[in-house]
Amino acid sequence: MAWNVIIAGGGFGGAAAARELERILPKQSARLLMANETNFALYTPFLPEAAAGTLEPRHVVTPLRDILKRTYLRIGSIVAHDPEAKTVELRPKHGAAETLPYDQLLLSLGSVSRVLPVPGLAEHAVGFKSLADAIYLRNHVIETLEEANATDDPARREELLTYVFVGGGYAGLEALAELQDFAADAMDRYPRARLHGMRWVLVEAADRVLPEIDLQLAEYALRELRGRGIDIRLQTTLEEVGGDFARLSSEETLATRTVVWTAGVAPQPILKQLSVPLDERGRVPVDEFLRVQGLDSVWAIGDCAAAPDPRGGTCPPTAQHAVRQGPVAACNIAAELGVGSPQRFAYKSEASFVNLGRYKAVGRIGERTFRGFPAWWLARSYHMSQIPGNARKARAVLDWTASLPFRRDISEVGSIGHPKPLI
Ligand SMILES: Cc1cc2nc3c(=O)[nH]c(=O)nc-3n(C[C@H](O)[C@H](O)[C@H](O)COP(=O)(O)OP(=O)(O)OC[C@H]3O[C@@H](n4cnc5c(N)ncnc54)[C@H](O)[C@@H]3O)c2cc1C
Repeated sequence: MAWNVIIAGGGFGGAAAARELERILPKQSARLLMANETNFALYTPFLPEAAAGTLEPRHVVTPLRDILKRTYLRIGSIVAHDPEAKTVELRPKHGAAETLPYDQLLLSLGSVSRVLPVPGLAEHAVGFKSLADAIYLRNHVIETLEEANATDDPARREELLTYVFVGGGYAGLEALAELQDFAADAMDRYPRARLHGMRWVLVEAADRVLPEIDLQLAEYALRELRGRGIDIRLQTTLEEVGGDFARLSSEETLATRTVVWTAGVAPQPILKQLSVPLDERGRVPVDEFLRVQGLDSVWAIGDCAAAPDPRGGTCPPTAQHAVRQGPVAACNIAAELGVGSPQRFAYKSEASFVNLGRYKAVGRIGERTFRGFPAWWLARSYHMSQIPGNARKARAVLDWTASLPFRRDISEVGSIGHPKPLI
């Protein structure tokens, strides 16, 4: 008899787990099924570069069918779970929902943007979590430069050339840094807008940025960005957003048409419907073997899990942790099915990098810190080793190489994917 193993979610954690399961479980002994909302895995660390146009949007995703060898991929959402009957419900993109039985279930559903009840946020701010967000922002920034160059109204120009990012985690900081770098280069071709100058503001509620990495490196990144003229407001919150303003807790109102909300992540809301225990932050608590507390045969990894961090507390929501938890969960699932022995999750992050624009980054490996081009190059090499598949690696290298001798591409292509009606 073959065991049914279901992997719910095919991002960093899920894809790493599936690859390991394919490697260690004999073919005849297990049927592997992955359910994911899309047929690709998104390499989020490159999202800011897709937004800045250094990388082609298609090159920051990898088709899951290229990664998986014998895992059956189903496109759709897991919407229900019955731990007694050991079944999950899959709602495919098209067609009726299906009940799928499992012997072992791995939850690797990732996270969503954490949204707070700020007036006007839903109507006027954008997030930065998906490929669609990255493409939208790039086109939006180009549009604001075009409009700012065309208008004779200085107040309107001020609104158009002020960009506000809320939340100083990886996503917010890297997105702001890449887009600011892109816009600063693009400005050469917008002489009237250049005369006015741009304003980039980062608003962060805490007294530091980058909670995912150690304080020393985070402060290093902060100094770099402040040195570039980016206005970073710590211990400040966004109080209200409108179509042309952002009001801060410092009582200052910024005239702006761009508010990007990157104030942290929350686990997938669907977890509430999956009959699994949740901690106070909505994550699935797991033990050091990544087994969901109180449930047999259910495991959770990545952003949706609260896994004990060997350094203390719970693991931060990073790809670094998700890709290491995947193979550990795979080993423990296999051990449960009688193959191999269980493993504890013992990974301690030794290196971190933060991309801050073209050829700009800060990073740390062990005790050594790096900045500028060496940090950028090291970050590139690290990410290259992590992108799944040789074809995708080659495409990313070609993009970076091709962008070296050329100016930034400032075509505004927001119409892609939105065909004009025939009449
Ligand atoms: C802009 C940005 C930059 C980042 N940079 C870095 C970085 O430099 N370094 C770093 O370590 N981390 C970085 N991160 C964080 C990193 O992306 C996450 O920690 C990582 O993606 C978590 O992996 P995961 O497997 O838990 O979830 P994900 O990779 O998000 O995968 C979850 C998958 O589950 C699928 N899914 C969701 N709900 C369902 C459902 N109901 N049914 C089926 N499938 C479902 C989704 O489609 C997705 O494919 C960044 C994040 C962002 C947004």
